[in-house]
Amino acid sequence: MISIKGLHKQFGQLEVLKGIDLEVEKGKVVVVIGPSGSGKTTMLRCLNVLEIPTKGIITIDEQTLDFSKNVSKKNIASFRRLTGMVFQNYNLFPHKTVLENVMEGPVIVKGEGKQAASKRAQGLLEKVGLGDKLDFYPSQLSGGQQQRVGIARALAMEPQVMLFDEPTSALDPELVGEVLKVMKDLAKEGMTMIVVTHEMRFARDAADEVIFMDGGVVVERNKPEEMFESPKEERTKRFLNMIL
Ligand code: ADP
Repeated sequence: MISIKGLHKQFGQLEVLKGIDLEVEKGKVVVVIGPSGSGKTTMLRCLNVLEIPTKGIITIDEQTLDFSKNVSKKNIASFRRLTGMVFQNYNLFPHKTVLENVMEGPVIVKGEGKQAASKRAQGLLEKVGLGDKLDFYPSQLSGGQQQRVGIARALAMEPQVMLFDEPTSALDPELVGEVLKVMKDLAKEGMTMIVVTHEMRFARDAADEVIFMDGGVVVERNKPEEMFESPKEERTKRFLNMIL
């Protein structure tokens, strides 16, 4: 489903991604862990082409972008639709209702009719447990509810892959569970997911594979139980000792 080859990203002189290679099969959940500044967010943003990689080849669902060549805006736009991104700070439109937030992408970007988009949005909001909050504004919701709107909004674009960038790290601890539950349900339905998170329980329960990144490279990848019980690399051991 996803193949990343030799992905590099530089911000000015700072080389943040130093050659990432990664393959993710359809329906798998990959959790990405690693110290702050290791390039986890940048990798997700490159997959969604919110950042333009310096070089590298990314294939998602048979569409390929080779960033060592010029990539057209049109190709980027169609590639971006393959992935849905969920952000740490929800990024909802504050002046739009919950329902309008979820309808916005399909109507504006995909040109879907308002009635059809509204019906689908309602279905998605019911799925994330917010069927009774359609006319609320984001500021009237808890952080956990806002993030569930964020997930519904990403799903509304019918992506092939869902990318989660620390989706629970801005939440009060008692609100984390409701968001993780929605994510686990999605995983069970067979959604392909890449999740950057510090929630090691989620990694243990829901991940098919855990990837440890440090210094802009993938240091180690393994099944969660092996990653947590018997990490191979020194750098992984040191990191896990600090957080577990
Ligand atoms: P992580 O998600 O692992 O914490 P990030 O991908 O957010 O790491 O950041 C990796 C490095 O890239 C950090 O040093 C960060 O300051 C830098 N960085 C991220 N985005 C930008 C940007 N737009 N401009 C300059 N530097 C950036």
